[in-house]
Amino acid sequence: MTRPYTPTQLYIDGRWVDATGGALFPVHDPATEEVLAQVSDAAADDGTRALDAAVRAQGDWGRTTVRERADILRRAYEMTLARIDEFATLMTLEMGKPFAESRAEVVYGAEFLRWFSELAPQVAGRYLPAPVGSNRILTVKRPVGPALLITPWNFPLAMATRKIGPAVAAGCTMVLKPAELTPLTALLFTQVMGEAGLPAGVLNVIPTTRPGEVTGPMIKDRRLRKLSFTGSTPVGKLLIAQSADTVLRVSMELGGNAPFLVFADADLDAAVAGAVVAKMRNGGESCVAANRFIVHRSVADEFAARLAAALGAIEMGPGLRDGVGLGALIDDRAVAKVTRLVDAAVADGATVLTGGTAPERPGFFYPPTVLGQVPAGSGILREEIFGPVAPIVTFDTDAEAIALANDTDFGLVAYVFTRDINRALSLGERIEAGMIGVNTGLVSNPAAPFGGIKQSGLGREGSVEGIEEYLETVYMGIHLTDPDAE
Ligand code: NAD
Repeated sequence: MTRPYTPTQLYIDGRWVDATGGALFPVHDPATEEVLAQVSDAAADDGTRALDAAVRAQGDWGRTTVRERADILRRAYEMTLARIDEFATLMTLEMGKPFAESRAEVVYGAEFLRWFSELAPQVAGRYLPAPVGSNRILTVKRPVGPALLITPWNFPLAMATRKIGPAVAAGCTMVLKPAELTPLTALLFTQVMGEAGLPAGVLNVIPTTRPGEVTGPMIKDRRLRKLSFTGSTPVGKLLIAQSADTVLRVSMELGGNAPFLVFADADLDAAVAGAVVAKMRNGGESCVAANRFIVHRSVADEFAARLAAALGAIEMGPGLRDGVGLGALIDDRAVAKVTRLVDAAVADGATVLTGGTAPERPGFFYPPTVLGQVPAGSGILREEIFGPVAPIVTFDTDAEAIALANDTDFGLVAYVFTRDINRALSLGERIEAGMIGVNTGLVSNPAAPFGGIKQSGLGREGSVEGIEEYLETVYMGIHLTDPDAE
């Protein structure tokens, strides 16, 4: 398969440029292990150059009208969708997910551009009398300033547009550091943003295989005003610590360990269908992937058998092949991690209902796997699996289900299947997660506030909350004299 054309250089100050020293790194197709492209490998100096460009552009960009910025986002939305197959092919080649899922991500990712183009003109301040005295309170919103955006490999387009959309709407300039495993989609999108009319210097893009070396000095630079990161919790913690030096504003979208609760009164058809989506979307390589299936003892065997049948019927193979429902995992480390977790769960006493063994290479594949009777203390319930494996544990009482669900440092999302509205709402108040899916396995939506509590993150993306992450609120206290009193 020849890959669609995509730029492979850094993008700094409106120009495609080589990395300092001319270094390149290979990007692989995880389904074949073949090299797809050689991409410029940014050095620390390139990070500084990109930040210089973003800082230079901030003044003029922050003063553009909201309508100008919204129009650029709207054009980028249309242009991205017009090239949906090109984007989806590239994404499948570099990331591994099935073509239909890549197309779905292009639609989802582009929607952040439309959403924030429509939200931008609605950003407003307030004017009100102070409750006591004659002062008036006036609030205005300002762009926070140059932002560093760091994104993961699992949603190569959507994780970028979820940050770029609100940053453009708010009037911030940006340096994007895409994941080194999947830089091609981000580079193609950068080209689209330029064609949509984004001025030079507003968006700069620096793929690199040395992320810490490149972003470390940028984070210490007092001209940087915002860091938005999506990725693993350990790297997020490191970046929060680095940000303390300049009291940098941070948004953190980190790891998850989602519980998927099935109660005795659940519609089992809906629960199994929801489980397939919550587990298998993106091959399980998603922060919102169901990681622990917590099922009432009375329905556990039937749920497990039906889930195993549904997952066992999914065809695994290269994502561009027709009929494939599960593509390759991202790399050999991902396969090794999933293998380690499954093998340890089996050693702990879990039973394999389907899958459970990685096929021969080439390609980083692992089959859809369902594990029954997983003991409560098993390691697979504590770690983010990030693969197509569904471990099932049982519970007897609601209190026990809630305790199991909350027994984690993460708090991104939980899924609840029950027909009892009272139970659903009270679970919604007691489960420690930023998002709760009720009788659905899919919560991601550009119009909804996406984000976690506990060690799953800080801040929200999408919705009306998403733009606030790129705005400062400034308040003016105005002394008003009463003309009649003169
Ligand atoms: P990762 O933390 O390894 O990498 C994420 C990004 O950080 C990449 O661009 C990487 O190059 C960069 N990075 C790595 N080390 C760095 C350092 N020292 N300094 C600066 N940047 C550094 O995560 P990943 O493997 O790419 O992505 C998977 C993780 O992302 C999972 O934990 C998943 O749950 C999480 N994730 C969270 C969300 C969310 O919205 N909460 C969405 C998608 C993925």
